[in-house]
Amino acid sequence: MRRTKIVATLGPASGTPAVIGEMLDAGMDVARLGLAHGTPEEHRAAMAMVRDEARRRGRIVGVLADLPGPKVRTGPFPEGGSFLAEGAEVVLVAGEGPSSGERIEVDEPEVAQVVEPGATVVLGDGTVVLEVVAVEGDTVRARVQAGGRLQGRPGAHLPSDRWRPPVPTEDDLRLIDAVAREADWVAVSFVRRPEELRRVREALGDDGPRLMAKIETRAAVEHLDELMTVADGIMVARGDLGIDAPIEDVPHLQKRIIRACAARGLPVVTATQMLESMVSAARPTRAEATDVANAVADGTDALMLSAETAIGRDPALAVRTMARIAERAEQAEEMHAVPVDRGVVSRRVPSTGAVTLAMAHAALRAADELGLAAIVCCTRAGTTARAMAALRPRARLVGASPSPATARQLTLSWGVEPLEVAEYHTTDEMVWCVVEAAVEAGVVHHGEAIAVLAGAPDAAARTTDVLRVVQVE
Ligand code: PEP
Repeated sequence: MRRTKIVATLGPASGTPAVIGEMLDAGMDVARLGLAHGTPEEHRAAMAMVRDEARRRGRIVGVLADLPGPKVRTGPFPEGGSFLAEGAEVVLVAGEGPSSGERIEVDEPEVAQVVEPGATVVLGDGTVVLEVVAVEGDTVRARVQAGGRLQGRPGAHLPSDRWRPPVPTEDDLRLIDAVAREADWVAVSFVRRPEELRRVREALGDDGPRLMAKIETRAAVEHLDELMTVADGIMVARGDLGIDAPIEDVPHLQKRIIRACAARGLPVVTATQMLESMVSAARPTRAEATDVANAVADGTDALMLSAETAIGRDPALAVRTMARIAERAEQAEEMHAVPVDRGVVSRRVPSTGAVTLAMAHAALRAADELGLAAIVCCTRAGTTARAMAALRPRARLVGASPSPATARQLTLSWGVEPLEVAEYHTTDEMVWCVVEAAVEAGVVHHGEAIAVLAGAPDAAARTTDVLRVVQVE
């Protein structure tokens, strides 16, 4: 039984109920909608397909809407593109007019203010790399470090030290209204300050989806601690991070970010190019398989597929392959060499975070000492289940909630098997109700002893204050 979750990006290769169904059967736990591409109508339709197919299978599946964030583009290159040769000089200016091999317009009005000599500007996701030589008024002179052909209106990555675009953008806010508010998680691209996350949360509303901060700039890494006080989850967005930070830093930043999330009990997703060659091949490279296994060993909650499932040759095969590698890594003794200091700081209920953590530790100990088959968390907002997941129990972990939205949000947390249960009002009713539901769902069996961990439904303070060991008759 795999504990690490799989997030798979939907796209042209995976936009039908049949393919989504195959991906669910292959192990997809969360479907990601990349809102930078396609229309809100298409994303709403995809979300409905995911939920329909999940329902047909009796599964609970999450939807992660990924906001595009600020994206700088060049003006259009001529038909057939322009080749920029290594060593050649080009100028960059603000504007949206035509670009050529000698003069490139960039739709960032402050481009000349946000770069300095020595800075690197990357065009077309790495197709062309420029080094800034001089800034003369509104004109940036640069030398081509790595040459290539640019076509259409490629993206331009400006270094994050001085470039501070507004987050959320107008487009992000429009997409929140048009589609993202209906998702279970919303990922915020290019976020670097906690106030930017707060603005997104405000736009989403109090009972809106949970908020994921994508760490994809050096600036975001620097502000990680502050971002973690507002975010509900973190994504190690290695694609853009590998452009903004030196590529050799990416493996270390991944470990540092995952460790920081473990200490806070925040779910963390490791993303981008995990099985990249499966965009066109039927098997991943050895390096990719090792990358997936290493992310599991690092302690990630979830692994993400991007182009592999959005435009790849066989989205379900990519999911199945990732699931096999992850499950194998979880079982292998040699993958557990890295001790992780796990704790929980609960942002939503800061005053009860310590109690929740202590109770989760007690459940962990009871499960280990008594050899319990499962820990069933009854959780309204998901806090108890996330706290338990953060401690990585060996026993099966069930996140039972009367809130369908909470159950769907828990699909991203390591090891949590989400379960929807009927509303309960007293502690006895709650225990009875979740045990029955867990047996019915086949996650708990007659004759097993389990722990039930919860916040008493009739207590005044919302905290995790009930731990019962139950023999399932
Ligand atoms: C990334 O940069 O790794 C990432 C996940 O962001 P996106 O694919 O949305 O650019």
